[in-house]
Amino acid sequence: MSKTITIGVLGFQGDIEENVAATRQALDDLKVDGRIQLVKYAKDVENIDALILPGGESTVQSSLAAIQNSLPALKNRIANGMPVLGTCAGMIMLSKRVYDRVVGETKQKTIGNLDVVIERNAFGRQNDSFETDLKIDMLGNETFKGVFIRAPAVSEVGKDVEVIARHEGKIVAVKQNNIIGTSFHPELAGDARIHEQIVKMALDYHEKGNGK
Ligand code: GLN
Repeated sequence: MSKTITIGVLGFQGDIEENVAATRQALDDLKVDGRIQLVKYAKDVENIDALILPGGESTVQSSLAAIQNSLPALKNRIANGMPVLGTCAGMIMLSKRVYDRVVGETKQKTIGNLDVVIERNAFGRQNDSFETDLKIDMLGNETFKGVFIRAPAVSEVGKDVEVIARHEGKIVAVKQNNIIGTSFHPELAGDARIHEQIVKMALDYHEKGNGK
């Protein structure tokens, strides 16, 4: 099997270009031969080795994905082990249940593979956006710059979910087998280490036959 991998970036809304750039950086840093493909429709999901869900506005993203009917295709591939990284709104898109800090249950459609409950806007609204250094063991000793913009937090985790970062006691990054979710925006950190994790997982998945 060829060593060229394909990383998809969900292309509906949000910081798509920033995720493309961080993924390109990660591929280059690791000297992995890879291409990046924008994903919108169910057919785009078939041949990718991993997927990145950008930050942005999760209600808009889920409405557009639902209109295109791509949620079931995404759900299947993730359930079959395809690696996926959801950043901020992208993590909301992956989660099983979502509520808003102020307005409560949002009833938005999500992909739903990540067994967590999410509190949207957990750190306040636009004015409460901030940056902070996070300790993430998986990435080694050097801290990672967490860029939080109207960020969600994880308020409950299922038994297969590992907490990989906290900020002020709130859970801000999780891993559940092939799924990584972050409350913050690693694509805006100028540090591709989290995208590198997904590239490594994609290589592994590709070598094992891409779930096929
Ligand atoms: N608050 C946004 C939402 O709920 C997420 C913000 C972001 O992705 N920066 O969708």
